[in-house]
Amino acid sequence: MYNSKSKIATEFIDHQEILATLEYAKQNKNNLPLIETILEKAATLKGLTYKEAIVLLECDSEEIMQKIFHLAETIKKKFYGNRIVLFAPLYLSNYCVNGCRYCPYHAKNKTIPRKQLTQEEIVKEVIALQDMGHKRLALETGEDPENCPLEYVLKSIKTIYSIKHKNGAIRRVNVNIAATTVENYRKLKEAGIGTYILFQETYHKETYEYLHPTGPKHNYAYHTEAMDRAMEGGIDDVGIGVLFGLNLYKYDFVGLLMHAQHLEDTNGVGPHTISVPRIRPADDVDVKDYSNAIPDEIFKKIVAILRIAVPYTGIIVSTRESEKTRADVIRYGVSQVSGGSKTSVGGYADSKEEHTEQFEVSDNRSLDDIVGWLLEQGYIPSFCTACYREGRTGDRFMRLVKTGQIANVCQANALMTLKEYAEDYASEHTAELAHKRIEEEIHNIPNPKVKEIVIENLHSLDDGKRDFRF
Ligand code: SF4
Ligand code: SF4
Repeated sequence: MYNSKSKIATEFIDHQEILATLEYAKQNKNNLPLIETILEKAATLKGLTYKEAIVLLECDSEEIMQKIFHLAETIKKKFYGNRIVLFAPLYLSNYCVNGCRYCPYHAKNKTIPRKQLTQEEIVKEVIALQDMGHKRLALETGEDPENCPLEYVLKSIKTIYSIKHKNGAIRRVNVNIAATTVENYRKLKEAGIGTYILFQETYHKETYEYLHPTGPKHNYAYHTEAMDRAMEGGIDDVGIGVLFGLNLYKYDFVGLLMHAQHLEDTNGVGPHTISVPRIRPADDVDVKDYSNAIPDEIFKKIVAILRIAVPYTGIIVSTRESEKTRADVIRYGVSQVSGGSKTSVGGYADSKEEHTEQFEVSDNRSLDDIVGWLLEQGYIPSFCTACYREGRTGDRFMRLVKTGQIANVCQANALMTLKEYAEDYASEHTAELAHKRIEEEIHNIPNPKVKEIVIENLHSLDDGKRDFRF
């Protein structure tokens, strides 16, 4: 029986309720009066229920789709302006005891070399990332209690935060590691992580169990209830996501929004971010598992509807996606992108390290290319990490977002961090574009006092001072 407030996975992600919802959407396919009502509600920025959102996803009227894209773009502009936050993944270890059928790190893959970075190697990786200009990382590891225990992850976080190289610093470390205990989540919180990210992969229990035949990840309930344990352990910014292409996308789309609803109803705050990875080719992965892969048009539609269904939640897209797709989804909803990414263990310091790659990257451009490209398209690339450092997390963060007050600080922080990037890391061409954009955008800081301080800080950045934030 569906119960969004239950702590039991199969009750807050209820299979029968998802099937009934999909049936409801089918029966209301292209039901224009209903769709108009849903769009009117979405326009008030209150978000949508999973039942409303799936009616939009089911619709295939071109005219309605254009309306959805237009609304998504408007909502995106309202909450995120033209700012795009940048980050990079950092792979620490590819040891893994699980048997995920879609991932080359699965335990039975004997062709991939296993590697775990030493603390000295982490220093090298982080210096390479800092030299690119990154300030925000997402740590990635496989699951292996013996070869990659939590103590190793905690030690690595400490190392990463301690590295100060030239003007560089990693100011926010998000963590994407396997589902764990409340006690371990508490330790991660104490280590100063930003967001805890864990993808559900698929919400369809039977498919989930097929795709994860061995290892601790096989346990659907333990995995699905992980975010509740993370929140119990004090982590109030969590990031969810599904790997589109593993199961029928409409089922997972409903599951994703049900999960968001559950977190909001039980913990008072929904997910901080939603990631939308799509499956990519990789070493020793059976191609027949791609049979549910979704085409670009549907992918774009999913992102746009997520944007209007959960307007306060950041949407993340990685370099799995091509330049063209990233341009589309940034326009309709995505607020964070990775740039210059390596998906291998040790790939930043050693550019030839490709053997340990988790998946093929589609967007191979350097961070400087991506920053320049975003600027050319009218965006403000942002290296902001301020909220977590200022204690604006969980419901405190959501309150500021919902009242629109966050825009003041986001715009200011975006411009100051872009200026840092332009001074310290950008190519001549990108720096020129950045300075121009900063000049144009200062006037869009709504609060006059904040604007005055930003102008002062931008001058101080010219004088060599760093790390200003609101
Ligand atoms: Fe291991 Fe994660 Fe890959 Fe599964 S997806 S094999 S848990 S690294
Ligand atoms: Fe994100 Fe907060 Fe920075 Fe805005 S001010 S970009 S919400 S970290």
